[in-house]
Amino acid sequence: MNLISNHLPTAELQALDTAHHMHPFTDGAELAATGPRVITRAKGVMLTDSEGIDYLDAMAGLWCVNIGYGRDELAQVAARQMSQLPYYNTFFQTTHMPAIGLAARLAELAPGDLNHVFFAGSGSEANDTNIRLVRHYWAAKGKPEKKVIISRRNGYHGSTVGAASLGGMAPMHAQGGLPIADIVHIDQPYWWGEGGEEDPDAFGLARARQLEQMIAQLGEDRIAAFIAEPVQGAGGVIIPPQTYWPEIQRICDAHEILLIADEVICGFGRTGKWFGSNTFDIRPDIMTIAKGLSSGYQPIGGSICSDEVANTIRDGGDFNHGYTYSGHPVAAAVALENLRILEEENIIGHVRDVAAPYMAQQWSTLADHPLVGEATIVGLMGSIALTPDSQSRARFSADAGTVGLRCRERCFANNLVMRHVGDRMIIAPPLIITPAEIDLLIERALRALDETYTGLKADGLLKAA
Ligand SMILES: *Cc1c(COP(=O)(O)O)cnc(C)c1O
Repeated sequence: MNLISNHLPTAELQALDTAHHMHPFTDGAELAATGPRVITRAKGVMLTDSEGIDYLDAMAGLWCVNIGYGRDELAQVAARQMSQLPYYNTFFQTTHMPAIGLAARLAELAPGDLNHVFFAGSGSEANDTNIRLVRHYWAAKGKPEKKVIISRRNGYHGSTVGAASLGGMAPMHAQGGLPIADIVHIDQPYWWGEGGEEDPDAFGLARARQLEQMIAQLGEDRIAAFIAEPVQGAGGVIIPPQTYWPEIQRICDAHEILLIADEVICGFGRTGKWFGSNTFDIRPDIMTIAKGLSSGYQPIGGSICSDEVANTIRDGGDFNHGYTYSGHPVAAAVALENLRILEEENIIGHVRDVAAPYMAQQWSTLADHPLVGEATIVGLMGSIALTPDSQSRARFSADAGTVGLRCRERCFANNLVMRHVGDRMIIAPPLIITPAEIDLLIERALRALDETYTGLKADGLLKAA
């Protein structure tokens, strides 16, 4: 397929794609009707498509290109590693330099005594590992009946059978007989959408206490773990009320269950610190990592485990689990180079001191737009809620997502990539974004919002449910 080059006309590329390529999370018939955008190159925060049109990528791909596009150092490292040792496994009592180096570096970066890494090829695989890991952990401690994992509705933990079961996405559960056994869900801490008349702090406490209620209902002797994202990403960038995480931590401390922080999005600087667990003062027993670990330049994920968890697994005999590409040398070498750049260029300091404060200031101005109910942000992950009436936090009468999709289309038309989750618009730009690029992002977002508003009005869709 080397014949396929950027020099083919876009229409031909689209026809080939439509004929042969099945897309993730996509309505295939709809895509075939419109034809996909063909992205051909990228640099910094900017994408270019096959028609030569530039877009500001306010999603960093899928929340992953933390250091920005076009860093040749990573390509050089990958090429060097491929020449020296393109592949070897980490089964059968073997290892290699990239896996050793990356595991040791992650142990330094991760908070507390999270000192041990089990590698996977993605966030989904890492969460599948976590299911096996926590159940095996309790079995090794003589408590095999502790195998239920508590998770949250509208959480996202990946798309394999296990990870999608952990997640609380109703449309995913509706296909393919999910969730698997012994995974249960509590409600999310989404105040704007579900808080009603309660004040946010009381609501945050109430949602956290559902965890304690679930533990009481099922019996502590049956619960293995609770898993959650510090900030829900794919659920719509839901930043929990400030009361939520301290109460979750208290409950996990008070009961004999493991806490898994899914840091796939929040990790590696997204919230202005290395991990969301640092920002929200969470003390997890296991952290899921992927995405920003390699800035998306190579597929890699992992589970970082505490001394206690890792020692129990170590002493529990064979752990009958692993992937051909666990600790893949090229992916691990590229991840290490990514971590070097994040640290040596003080990119997280840039988020904390420059980009996040400026973005927060500019992002909050969007709340003045007549279509916007709230504008929230932590670090460089933010969202706005679209609403026909910001005072009452009303939903649109049109199906959820109708307005969000229209807004996303207006974003593309204004050279901006923002994603919609229902009728929330979300951003998570590369962490290297500059104040001037933030100005451009906001300017384009405002134009997209104006055009969405005009279109809704013209089509009679500015109605509350
Ligand atoms: C993306 C994501 C995953 C899944 O990662 P993949 O690499 O797509 O398998 C898991 N957890 C969270 C929080 C994510 O955002």
